[in-house]
Amino acid sequence: MITTISKEEGLSADITLPVYQDKEGAVWIGTVQGLNRLKDGHLSSFTTADGLPDKLVFSVTQSGDGVVWIGTHKGLARLVTNRFVSVSAEAGLPSGPVMCTYTDTAGDLWVGTRGGLSHFDGKHFTTYTTKDGLSNNFVMAIHQSSDKTLWIGTDGGGLNSFRDGKFEFHTMLDKLAGNIVSGLTSDPDGTLWIGTRGGGLSRLRSGKFTNYSSRQGLTDDTVLAVVDDELGRLWMSSNKGIFSVEKKQLEQLDAGLIKKITAASYGIGDGMKNRECDGGFQPAGWRTQDGRIWFPTVEGVSAADPAHVGNSSIPLSLMIEDVFVDGKEQVFDKPLTVSPGNGKLAFHFTAPTFISPEKVQFRYMLEGFDKDWTQEEHNRAAYYTNIPPGEYRFRVLASRDGQKWYGEKVNVAFTLQPRYYQTLGFAALMGILVAGCALALHRVRVGHLRDNERKLVQLVEKRTSELRQSRDDLEIRVADRTLDLLKSNLSLEAEVATRTIAEQKAAAASQAKTQFLTNMSHEIRTPINGIMGMTDLTLTTEVTSEQREYLEIVRASADSLLLIVKDIMDFSQMESGKLALNEEPFRLSRVISELEKTVAPRVSEKGLLLSIKAVPGVPDRVVGDPIRLRQVLLNLLDNGVKFTNQGNISLHIEPAEISDSNALLHFSVTDTGIGISDDKLQTIFEAFSQGDSTMTRRFGGAGLGLTISSRLAQMMNGNLWVESKLGAGSTFHFTALLGIASEPAEAPGSVSEPASLSLE
Ligand code: ADP
Repeated sequence: MITTISKEEGLSADITLPVYQDKEGAVWIGTVQGLNRLKDGHLSSFTTADGLPDKLVFSVTQSGDGVVWIGTHKGLARLVTNRFVSVSAEAGLPSGPVMCTYTDTAGDLWVGTRGGLSHFDGKHFTTYTTKDGLSNNFVMAIHQSSDKTLWIGTDGGGLNSFRDGKFEFHTMLDKLAGNIVSGLTSDPDGTLWIGTRGGGLSRLRSGKFTNYSSRQGLTDDTVLAVVDDELGRLWMSSNKGIFSVEKKQLEQLDAGLIKKITAASYGIGDGMKNRECDGGFQPAGWRTQDGRIWFPTVEGVSAADPAHVGNSSIPLSLMIEDVFVDGKEQVFDKPLTVSPGNGKLAFHFTAPTFISPEKVQFRYMLEGFDKDWTQEEHNRAAYYTNIPPGEYRFRVLASRDGQKWYGEKVNVAFTLQPRYYQTLGFAALMGILVAGCALALHRVRVGHLRDNERKLVQLVEKRTSELRQSRDDLEIRVADRTLDLLKSNLSLEAEVATRTIAEQKAAAASQAKTQFLTNMSHEIRTPINGIMGMTDLTLTTEVTSEQREYLEIVRASADSLLLIVKDIMDFSQMESGKLALNEEPFRLSRVISELEKTVAPRVSEKGLLLSIKAVPGVPDRVVGDPIRLRQVLLNLLDNGVKFTNQGNISLHIEPAEISDSNALLHFSVTDTGIGISDDKLQTIFEAFSQGDSTMTRRFGGAGLGLTISSRLAQMMNGNLWVESKLGAGSTFHFTALLGIASEPAEAPGSVSEPASLSLE
């Protein structure tokens, strides 16, 4: 349903940039090695030999007079009978890369460069820059909405509108989703859709922005291009592939009718050669006359056909393969009646298909027991225990896209018979027996009580006279004491009042600090991404080896800056209690082997040895948050490598406590490095603290790693502590409570042993 044309099919290069269809129906595809034109199944190529100013092609458009314009890394050119002619400097266009070209409804050409927005009057370019009110001179996207307003997306300066010769701009301060605006499109009613890098999708309607991000169900927060399929869906390209959302769903979300949008995402399984799309130039997405939607990617240009997407229209045939009750397989071609047992049920189902089988998802429900559907994306089985006697119907549905479900008629109906003591008759008999016993007991008790009552009355009379005497004494003492208490109560109240005010001030200051950290980290991340993106892009161009070396240093510095900012964000999220852990089944062996791959290069670079051992009995299929678990272990291993100059780093895993459903795992990371002095052992777990502040320069880091890890360990119901001697290495211990996932492949009914972790 997605077709991809790449170098293999004849394109000049795999990395494709703009894609555009002209009025004659030719599709133009810009690449990093020249320009391609696809017309009636015939593909032709153009490069600098045909007059293009540069082989790196960033933009294509056709102006109202039919002229095709090509923006390249080294300026703009126009097509004049099969040759490209560069636009000369005299015409007044700023020199340098031409990131976007756009033809407005009057047929006029607009050009976006790193030097602002330019308009062509047929002879000359008039250029608008920050001096004229544009928010930023790096123009990435131009679009005209139905009311003739021109919208300009910039790299870092948000969104500008241009109307009647006046610019106005909107940024994240006005609730725009992101300040790097990479894609623009609009509806006939003037609603504007804005794709941002990092913030997701924004909608501007009647002067108000509404934002949609991965939190609301988008596939990615980097939206490179937005294209309307005119069938009710918006199509977007991202680093995680192409995806589409129903505009109706966005409205339902606004109205609070749904909590999340279901985006349909497409990647390699659907016909892309690589799911990573390209953007930052124009057009980075195009709807051709046949209704198909084209997006440039790092491996060819991919075209999706919205009219035929979603193999979801091809029915799935769903079947229930087998049913086990209390470990016994059942024949279920007619309604079942099962004799008394433990109410342990297992159902296996499947929906065999050759088309994207990995996308098939299921949901099931035991009617009579479950109130709602249970969603199942991977396992094709449902297990129940302790189901009480009664009448039930097990139903299961399958879907390719989470929207259209098949299998309405697939079900198993059955009756679980009660044991004799679960029947109504038995309950009634027991009732009569209990009532009889109670009556007999009651009679005996009443006799005893009468006796006791008589004795009590005599005793009370005696005591009453004794008490009368001591009472007068007591009253005086109580009055004294009350006065004392009243005094000290008053002074306590005064103190409480003073303290409450101080506490409120402290809490407000701490909240302001956390908010500031969160905001700043977000703000810093956007420009870092800009630096990284542009550095990467520059690295694809011709640079001297010296420049390459400098650029690679810029790239590495931006990388480590981003890591620090991520740590700060984690930390401030924890401070404000917003960080939550995931609960999902995963394989511990995967996490460990990923970790090994990540750390190995740094270990061998320093000439160290890495050993990883797990004692037998450590479960492999577990339930918890694999990303956070990996984060803690990576931090410990990284610190080990950072602070060790010779010897070895080892990771040891053993179960500290284990039950049927949970395991408290004990990870220890030992190194033969510089160690930590006694007085520093406590403070290294505090935020922004480092063992020796003079070492910051030598080893880098923000001193947040252990703080975050220690809190993550506590959130995993575990702990983080250290044993270390200065000069003799350190051992960091980390415990985490993980669930044990049931083994789906085992025969149901039998108590399955969880698979053990094996690291080979
Ligand atoms: P960062 O590594 O970002 O500086 P951490 O919170 O991870 O921050 O570590 C805090 C400090 O604890 C480090 O600066 C270092 O002084 C000390 N430290 C951590 N791990 C080790 C280790 N394996 N050996 C010696 N010192 C360590």
